[in-house]
Amino acid sequence: MRFKDKVVLITGASSGIGADAAQAFAEEGAHVFLVARRKDKGEEVAESIRRSGGSATFFQADMAIRSDIADMVKACVSQYGRLDIAFNNAGIEGDFFVDTHLQSEEAWDLVIAINLTGVWHSMRQQIPEMLKHGKGAIVNMASMAGVKGFAGSSGYAASKFGVIGITKAAALEYVKQGIRVNCVCPAVIRSEMAEKIFMTTEESAKATAAAHPIGRIGEAREVTNAVLWLASDEASFVVGEALQIDGGLGA
Ligand code: NAD
Repeated sequence: MRFKDKVVLITGASSGIGADAAQAFAEEGAHVFLVARRKDKGEEVAESIRRSGGSATFFQADMAIRSDIADMVKACVSQYGRLDIAFNNAGIEGDFFVDTHLQSEEAWDLVIAINLTGVWHSMRQQIPEMLKHGKGAIVNMASMAGVKGFAGSSGYAASKFGVIGITKAAALEYVKQGIRVNCVCPAVIRSEMAEKIFMTTEESAKATAAAHPIGRIGEAREVTNAVLWLASDEASFVVGEALQIDGGLGA
């Protein structure tokens, strides 16, 4: 029960890593405020948490819309009175396996808007709430595509390298005020996004697994475990870290 009565906001919580993290935080006593665009799926995750005895609320918001992001933090604080932890996880892949000069302007703008600017706007709203109590933890979702180059991923890579940059800058700005900011950098993790990009055929799924030195892709819980640790007091001396969860891909 590392998060007993803590208020945890998670974006992109309707599926994949975000939904798993919501479940895990709730199992450890948190009040979980789940945010995503898809109302049905998000409500379903929140309802399943409540059915297992946890505390969860779903809020519909689009991370590409600044006013939605402001509303999400306001709604969280008005419901639970405070914000202790934020996991800024929502993200899309943009144009993937598309060379730089062929990436579309629409895809570029959207991937940057959601994955990078959305994280910045989220932090702009979350940090003042944490400063009020002199304590907080933010975990942002980056990627191994934000650590090393992968051909065909320019827009996504730019967004995730950016997330690491904003994480490290903000970590230094707020550490003396009690807020720790870190991020996670997963390699390929089983999820809707990964299936769409890397597992369209049996061969591509096998090749993706083989590309990881460990010989397989990761599971959502293997990222969630790291997110919970970074958000917890166990990581009290961990500041501005970009933690690779990658089966050895970056080793
Ligand atoms: P996913 O597609 O299952 O989850 C993405 C979540 O983000 C969903 O809940 C989706 O509804 C939400 N989302 C997307 N756009 C949004 C928007 N505009 N506003 C609000 N919510 C939005 O895939 P996932 O793998 O769980 O992805 C979660 C995060 O992990 C993403 O940021 C992704 O870039 C990152 N990531 C994934 C992998 C992987 O291999 N699965 C690897 C590294 C990083």
